[in-house]
Amino acid sequence: MSARRDAIIASISRQPRKILRPTDLDGKPLVVSQYFGSLTFGLDQMKSKLSKDSYQALLAMVNRGTRLTKEVSDEIANVVKDWAISQGAGHFCHWFQPMTGLTAEKHDSFIQTRTSETGQTQSLERFTGSALIQSEPDASSFPSGGMRSTFEARGYTAWDPTSPLFIIESTNGKTLCIPSAFLSYHGHALDTKTPLVRSTEALSKQATKFLKLLGDVDITSVFSTLGAEQEYFLIDRAQFSLRPDLLMTGRTLLGRGSTRGQQFEDHYFGSIPSRVLAFMQEIEQELYKLGVPIKTRHNEVAPAQFELAPVFEESNLSCDHNSLVMDILCRVALRHDLVCLLHEKPFAGINGSGKHNNWSLSTQKGENLLEPGKTPHQNLRFLAVLVAVIKAVHDHADVLRIGIASPGNDHRLGANEAPPAIISTFLGESLSGILNKIEAGALIESPSEEAILSLGVSRLPVVARDNTDRNRTSPFAFTGNKFEFRAVGSSANCAVPISILNAAAADSFSLLTERLEKKLAQTKSRDEAVLSLIREVIKETKNVRFEGNNYSAEWKAEAAKRGLPNHMTTPEALAVFHDKKATEFLVKQQVLSADEINARHNIMVERYIKQIEMEAATLLELVQTHVYPAVEGQISKTAQMVGYVKEAGKSISTDRLQDINALYEKLLKAGASLQTEYTKALDSKDEHQKSTLLSEKVLPAMNKVRDLADEAEGLVADELWPLPKYREILFLK
Ligand code: ADP
Ligand code: MG
Repeated sequence: MSARRDAIIASISRQPRKILRPTDLDGKPLVVSQYFGSLTFGLDQMKSKLSKDSYQALLAMVNRGTRLTKEVSDEIANVVKDWAISQGAGHFCHWFQPMTGLTAEKHDSFIQTRTSETGQTQSLERFTGSALIQSEPDASSFPSGGMRSTFEARGYTAWDPTSPLFIIESTNGKTLCIPSAFLSYHGHALDTKTPLVRSTEALSKQATKFLKLLGDVDITSVFSTLGAEQEYFLIDRAQFSLRPDLLMTGRTLLGRGSTRGQQFEDHYFGSIPSRVLAFMQEIEQELYKLGVPIKTRHNEVAPAQFELAPVFEESNLSCDHNSLVMDILCRVALRHDLVCLLHEKPFAGINGSGKHNNWSLSTQKGENLLEPGKTPHQNLRFLAVLVAVIKAVHDHADVLRIGIASPGNDHRLGANEAPPAIISTFLGESLSGILNKIEAGALIESPSEEAILSLGVSRLPVVARDNTDRNRTSPFAFTGNKFEFRAVGSSANCAVPISILNAAAADSFSLLTERLEKKLAQTKSRDEAVLSLIREVIKETKNVRFEGNNYSAEWKAEAAKRGLPNHMTTPEALAVFHDKKATEFLVKQQVLSADEINARHNIMVERYIKQIEMEAATLLELVQTHVYPAVEGQISKTAQMVGYVKEAGKSISTDRLQDINALYEKLLKAGASLQTEYTKALDSKDEHQKSTLLSEKVLPAMNKVRDLADEAEGLVADELWPLPKYREILFLK
């Protein structure tokens, strides 16, 4: 208890941390727009610093993938170095996203040496084009899923010029970060960015083709946009440090729910605690300097849970920015003596954290293709794009499920707080109504329907922005001018689900293009052909549309009847990898090769195994070193007291002693059976079998232990309980 008491005292003595606000030379505070992106160096800055020819060469590289000459790349490196040094950076690194779910960086100094005439070593700051464009981290320590045998351990990182360079400030220095892709020497993607970039290309190619057929000949490229709403928990560092489970696994493996939870619904959008607000203000300031357009901040549903959301951007940039957000959240939290938990389910009994991925499609002119239009043509196009996306979800629901699979997210999906593991899409009443009418072949001309526009032979209503109530239970909901992929977990790297979503959309556009070409060859009216295609797709994809309550048991039954997959756990979701047909579209759209898919399968299974093994081992240790001793302490205290009273010749109830004893016995049994299941799983030689054992045997055994340990927490004297309790972790102010 004394450690717990110390932690409580530490937590309640903290003050909101004051930060320095950026100012001009006279000390006047700057507004955000004056310092936004001040720590970044992207194409805009390069344009102003480079010679015209060099900048053109750089653009050609960005747009067409042409190589830079040594002279040009050296010139670029030079302006980058001058800027970085003027900002005080002494080091640079290629910043990349290996398949660990995190970011990685290896720092190099700008220092180069030369030997003077007298043989002395002198130094100077230098940065070459080749160092900017490529670097060679030792790839053998990053997951490769078997794509690289040990003798082929080399890999390289390659600069992604579409994402601005940025500077990370730390206490004693600054580092220039170069956003990069990470590849093996044979060109296999070893990261999450490469498939994302490839999916963007595929999507652009297929969507542009499709839109040209619709008559939009001026559309030259299409890209997806992403705005990722990040949920997270903040807890005091002192509490965190006393919880081996949080320290090791990111979530509490035991802990009795406090008597107050989120039942009053008083935290959501409530006034932000001042210490947390100070943290958020520092986060925003840091992110603004890095050019990350953070827009909103608020309390979330669970106690100690919060959210921040950016303005959407092109997906690749937005994914980089979300990785930065996660990194900065965790780093800045420590400065405030807080710990930021990005795990999907840090606490039982209250909501977990997700990351709604708001996703849409935009033309090169910035027109949102999922925005209902003003003209009949725009509306027809909107509906065509909409059904193409619905088809993408319909055809590739099981692979989209893979994209959100993680041991942490397994606790959320289907847990009545987050969308279920069944992938379906929600459109809202009015849009659903429109699709139903189109499907039925009815001409839409009912006078009650607002604003009707005639469209050649057919009639289509103006598709108004949906103003019906949001369906918060849907994993993939249309929200007026974008889809919201809600099932993504809070710790996910968005590049994984988004590259699959982009690839699925690309595949859908390519199939629909073929079909529309055939129709156009047979029909005179383009609008008629498009409408007839839309009608067909509405019919074919009806199964994946669901407007009701996704949390309900009826939906599970209904989805099963419809034949929609419901992969409740990561091992079940990952088993889809064995079905070559399911993942074929990724190969066809050149987003991942068969080898790369295989590698991702291996890595995801391996990571699942490692995580659950670690959780089981941590729980076993916690039980042995914290829970049993606490219960034993209580037993001996109570027994002693009973002994004293009896010795004095008085009678006393032994009910409590018996209760605690009985619980202790049950706990020992549950602990032993967890140990047995854990050992069995460890002994399994086959990875898939091992992951299944962990999910189907070990996790339930862990839950059993947890239930009993939480019961014990309610019986044992507070002063004997060594672990910070939920009320202390979640409610101290
Ligand atoms: P709400 O969830 O209430 O609709 P917003 O409309 O503010 O809230 O959007 C939430 C997130 O969706 C924000 O990150 C926002 O930038 C993003 N978003 C809005 N429009 C688009 C779009 N066209 N593409 C991708 N994300 C978008
Ligand atoms: Mg939202």
